[in-house]
Amino acid sequence: MTDMVKTRLRRDDEVVVIAGRDKGARGKVIRVMKSDGSVLVSKVNMIKRHTRQTQNSSGGIIEKEAALDVSNVQYFCSKCKAGVRLGVKTLEDGRKVRTCRACGEVLDS
Ligand SMILES: [Zn+2]
Repeated sequence: MTDMVKTRLRRDDEVVVIAGRDKGARGKVIRVMKSDGSVLVSKVNMIKRHTRQTQNSSGGIIEKEAALDVSNVQYFCSKCKAGVRLGVKTLEDGRKVRTCRACGEVLDS
């Protein structure tokens, strides 16, 4: 058995950071890594990478996103205007959609 981390978050979801240095920051999920339970969120948890000076480039600092633990982010519900927990509901046609557990809004169309 693999120990994949369960998360209902997906790419392009808007999330809010609920713990850590970037607490309160919001951004879109770029990537979900279920193998280690982390997510990359656009413009959140930026780290600076120094690149070395070479003959071809002057070197410098690149900023890029570092992974966050999924437990440190929550789906941002546009109706609640807050981070919320996600639920799952089965529609009449059998499709499963995600819902906001706070207001009940269906989040997947
Ligand atoms: Zn909601």
